[in-house]
Amino acid sequence: MSKLSLEEHRKVKVIYCQKHSVHIGVKDNMKRHMVVILICCILFMSCTQMDTHMVASSTNVVVVATVQPTATPVPQLSFDDFLSEALLYYAAGNYEEAILSFVMALEIEPKNFDALFGLGKSYGNTYQTAKAIETLEAALQVRTDSAEAAVALGYAYLNSGDPVKAGALARPLWEGVVPNLEAGVVLLLSLAAEERIEDILDLLSDEDLAAYIQDEANDADLYAGQRNAVGMREGRGVCLYNRGYIYIGDYKADVRSGQGTWMRVGADWVFMGAWADDAPNGYGEYYLDRTPPIERQEGTTYAIHVEEKANYVEGLVHGTIHVSWLMDSGKTHIWDYAVTNGVAGDGIVAYCEECGADLSVGGMHGVMPWTE
Ligand SMILES: [Zn+2]
Repeated sequence: MSKLSLEEHRKVKVIYCQKHSVHIGVKDNMKRHMVVILICCILFMSCTQMDTHMVASSTNVVVVATVQPTATPVPQLSFDDFLSEALLYYAAGNYEEAILSFVMALEIEPKNFDALFGLGKSYGNTYQTAKAIETLEAALQVRTDSAEAAVALGYAYLNSGDPVKAGALARPLWEGVVPNLEAGVVLLLSLAAEERIEDILDLLSDEDLAAYIQDEANDADLYAGQRNAVGMREGRGVCLYNRGYIYIGDYKADVRSGQGTWMRVGADWVFMGAWADDAPNGYGEYYLDRTPPIERQEGTTYAIHVEEKANYVEGLVHGTIHVSWLMDSGKTHIWDYAVTNGVAGDGIVAYCEECGADLSVGGMHGVMPWTE
């Protein structure tokens, strides 16, 4: 503390805490607004002499010394200041702070697209779905041709459990002159949420979209659906996993649990069944559709639709499997045989119930892989 003359000392009130050896001098005639907050121990209560307010907290006493407030102007932040601050927070993944700054920016310019779009995405990233929808709809009113706002709003609709609105928003962008691949993903997730499996397969026959999903779209799981209070996937949802696996079904505490469908971009099979601990566990059905080869072998018929129904343990068939093959001749073969932890043995395992045709299998029976 700088030295003060005797006269100056008279104008100074001193707060002194013996325990913490804290001195704070405040000049009586000081005109500047000043608030001093000091946290001290209970012992300190008796040595305060000033016009103070004391607030007891759990173990400490907060001493607030106030001196006359004055009207010194606080520098006003501009719209650009708030927006750039918000964008920095957003880029750093600090969405709560970004929201505060976007809101301040919008108080100055309520119709600014960048601020509305950023605020809407921040709400989306913090699972405030209703606010995300309201804000992104406002952004889209300001700039009706913004594909990025439409895509973000599509995800918000999906998260609110409204895949029809999400699909309606995404489809024109996907079917435009230059198909918007991000909108294609929103459309895919909306079809998944509606369990329109055939339409998903149709959509994924687009090679550009299939390649985009497998190569670029999802380094991380891309989830749309219900969440629990701490933001984990829980309830009904759809998720695009790494390399183009799609799950449509129930989650519990962030993992697949309940009834779910598992399929893969570009694959001709679909698994539908019970899940627990993030793996097929329980009864499940597996469907495979095949197109016969263009150059057919003389006298050979081909399976065009295969169904396998069985119980699964950790993704592997365990118990009796019921298999049917629909041939392109119109005939159906049916086989039942035993499988233990995915293994049925090599060579002939069963004879057709209808015609006696034998079935040879090898390898493992199961949903493989059920992780991406
Ligand atoms: Zn048969």
